[in-house]
Amino acid sequence: MDAGSDNAAEAKILIVEDEAQIRKFLRISLQAHGYTVLEARLGEDGLALCASHQPELVILDLGLPDLDGQDFIARLREWSEVPVIVLSVRASESEKVRALDAGANDYVTKPFGINELMARIRSVLRGSQATHAAQPLFESDGLQVDLLQREVKVDGAAVHLSKKEYELLRLLISHPAQVLTHQQILREVWGPAQQNETHYLRVLMGQLRQKLRDDPTHPRFIVTVQGVGYRLAIQP
Ligand code: CA
Repeated sequence: MDAGSDNAAEAKILIVEDEAQIRKFLRISLQAHGYTVLEARLGEDGLALCASHQPELVILDLGLPDLDGQDFIARLREWSEVPVIVLSVRASESEKVRALDAGANDYVTKPFGINELMARIRSVLRGSQATHAAQPLFESDGLQVDLLQREVKVDGAAVHLSKKEYELLRLLISHPAQVLTHQQILREVWGPAQQNETHYLRVLMGQLRQKLRDDPTHPRFIVTVQGVGYRLAIQP
């Protein structure tokens, strides 16, 4: 079976979605790719299944009858780092951003293609395994960051970053396969009082990209997610 050769196969995935048709479509597609599937129609049941069955990934619909999507994530994040991919409808940009702020790893907009969702799942699963390995050296596609010595190299040449530029880069590489929102980054790098100063971030990101020689129109390291934030373009 071709589907059985998938690297991430056999990971356990929990679907939290109240629409039976979408749930069924997801279950059949995921099983065809070799994943084990758990299902919940309600948020409360989903949280209970996370605790009792410890899935490797959660696919979460933001519009649930009993629980708001970001409340689900906030409650889950109190005790679990399991990656969450959010399903959102096109109209609700702000809802999607709030979900990412609450700790979701990625999102897919409904209606979505199954190939896109599968690619996101593989990417998030790879990223979460890498995070658990907790290596002090990040190395990928010519970018090398020594997290112990705080040294950065691009294609073998040392790059000298300011403290904030380094913090921004460190934040991105410590969340591979995750979209970081403007507010998340501003909170982490500047502090909660500055979380709405998006122009600070734009300027700093420009400086960092210049030093990494990363062209935003053809990004090698950092991708702009329009209206939302940034994501790392490479995997450790
Ligand atoms: Ca729904």
